[in-house]
Amino acid sequence: MPMSASDPTTPIPIAVAFGDGIGPSIMEATLRILEAAKVPIAPERIEIGEKVYLSGVTSGMEPSAWDVLRRTRVFLKAPITTPQGGGYKSLNVTTRKTLGLYANVRPCRSFHPFVQSRHPGMDVTIIRENEEDTYAGIEHQQTPEVTQCLKLISRPGSERIARYAFDYAERAGRRRVTCMVKDNIMKITDGLFRQCFEEEAARHPNIESDVMIIDIGTARIADTPGTFDVVVLPNLYGDIVSDVVAQLTGSVGIAGSANIGDDFAMFEAIHGSAPDIAGKGIANPSALIQGSLQMLAHLGLADHANLIQNAWLRTLEDGVVTGDLVNSKGERGSAGTEEFANAVIQRLGDEPVTLARSAFRQGRTMAFETRKAAPRPVKTLGGIDVFLDWDEVGRDPNVLGEKVKALGSDALELRIVTNRGVKVYPDGFPETFCSDHWRCRFVNPEEGEISHSDVLALLQRFETAGFDFIKTEHLYRFDGERGWSLGQGE
Ligand code: NAD
Repeated sequence: MPMSASDPTTPIPIAVAFGDGIGPSIMEATLRILEAAKVPIAPERIEIGEKVYLSGVTSGMEPSAWDVLRRTRVFLKAPITTPQGGGYKSLNVTTRKTLGLYANVRPCRSFHPFVQSRHPGMDVTIIRENEEDTYAGIEHQQTPEVTQCLKLISRPGSERIARYAFDYAERAGRRRVTCMVKDNIMKITDGLFRQCFEEEAARHPNIESDVMIIDIGTARIADTPGTFDVVVLPNLYGDIVSDVVAQLTGSVGIAGSANIGDDFAMFEAIHGSAPDIAGKGIANPSALIQGSLQMLAHLGLADHANLIQNAWLRTLEDGVVTGDLVNSKGERGSAGTEEFANAVIQRLGDEPVTLARSAFRQGRTMAFETRKAAPRPVKTLGGIDVFLDWDEVGRDPNVLGEKVKALGSDALELRIVTNRGVKVYPDGFPETFCSDHWRCRFVNPEEGEISHSDVLALLQRFETAGFDFIKTEHLYRFDGERGWSLGQGE
């Protein structure tokens, strides 16, 4: 929940982590600018990252640091290095999920010609769902040949991010929200995300909305980013598209990112700890500065954010840029981290001459009131998918099909056998490659309801017949609607 800056004499406590690699130098530069702009905040330093990981804390953050976060509820974080291997969990993913930071907001704007970009007019904000999708991190190896990752998309998660995207568009005076999904293939999961988006869009007739398939959407946004405004995506697509779009502005070194939840918020640069340039004093602090300005707006300090942003824009206009950027004269920048920060500080109070002036608006509470929950649908069990690890000589689907068909009952009949989603029995194609991972779909022939006892009896027959069943998936209907996808060829 954003805090109020109504009493400017009381500094607002925030948690600050200096991170690894270039982290400490860009954080020092950023905090120096905030201090020079007399921003009423009280940073409390916490330790996170490589040192903490290597001391044996696999989450990368000490319990005492969590206590500071719980108290301040606002976190400005420099990039950290995640050590390779060793079972270390990504601190970013852990923090986002532990603190319920469901919305990742990345404004990606071009500052052409002062930062050279092939897309001068672009001003896109990517809003990425931050907690669900394949990032639930639920993965298994099920057979010697086959692994799986569960993609979880929930109605509350999808409703919340769609709501956030339209609310953001309204607050920021944006005209259109685009949703990107792959619901032509993932009709149930991406289909739900799209449905929640369309339901929310109908509540905002003043904002245009459209839906694009992610592949063509990514191609278009990479080609003509200037035609997009606000884009909302599920987690994995959002992760990829936000880096693509940030790079189009000229460099990942100038894009900040906000991670917003109902009670907590975390602000950062989108780039990593850049170990290749650490200690050289040449890192661009701009992305972390941009993250910190999103934080100020969130804290209700939009005036301070605009003061700093205007000075930052003027610095770019004056041709002062770091070595990751090319200025309007076509020269690669030569300013170091400190020199760049000093240039911004010197320009506090100045405004850009050519670029549009900064227009941060005050944040406001993101804790939406809960919409009236729809009544829970009637759920009925109509069948079961039994997955097998089966590797008999020849892997002949007809041999397997005949064997498992014999395990059926009046309640549960074999409908099909698929391999990696494609029907291979009955009437499969001999050309289809078969792995050692098979799905045997049993359904009630009358489309009626079956019981858990029917399922257990079926699995008992698999056990007796010597099959290695590796997992099962129940086939439910919700208010009579099929809640499972058909196999390819079913
Ligand atoms: P990176 O973003 O650190 O670096 C990619 C390239 O961009 C490098 O050439 C680097 O020099 C350059 N670069 C990045 N930021 C820059 C800046 N501010 N100024 C100038 N140049 C800059 O990505 P990477 O090399 O893949 O990752 C390095 C480490 O960072 C890894 O340990 C990774 O896990 C971690 N990482 C952390 C975060 C985070 O904390 N949010 C995000 C991404 C990566």
